[in-house]
Amino acid sequence: MKKKKHTYCVFCGKEIRWIRRKGTVKAVPCETRCISFVPDPNGQHVFIDMEGNARRGRETPDGLIGFYRHACPNFPSRSVRSEKDEQARRWA
Ligand SMILES: [Zn+2]
Repeated sequence: MKKKKHTYCVFCGKEIRWIRRKGTVKAVPCETRCISFVPDPNGQHVFIDMEGNARRGRETPDGLIGFYRHACPNFPSRSVRSEKDEQARRWA
């Protein structure tokens, strides 16, 4: 019997974990590896903290626990597509 429930991305099959945003039902797909980071407005990465908030920061050996958002290579980006559709229609 499996103790830990594994979740896999339905688009690319990679193992992910969902971080639920505190106080909402919205969850963010994240990489399974946890990262320690410090918030930094000039940081190069965006981390999802344990409360599901996106925070800009940088990796550090000793900081807050967060995760990288799962940047899915196969995710059908609906907003981008509809934007393109709109543009295509405008220029048609
Ligand atoms: Zn994926």
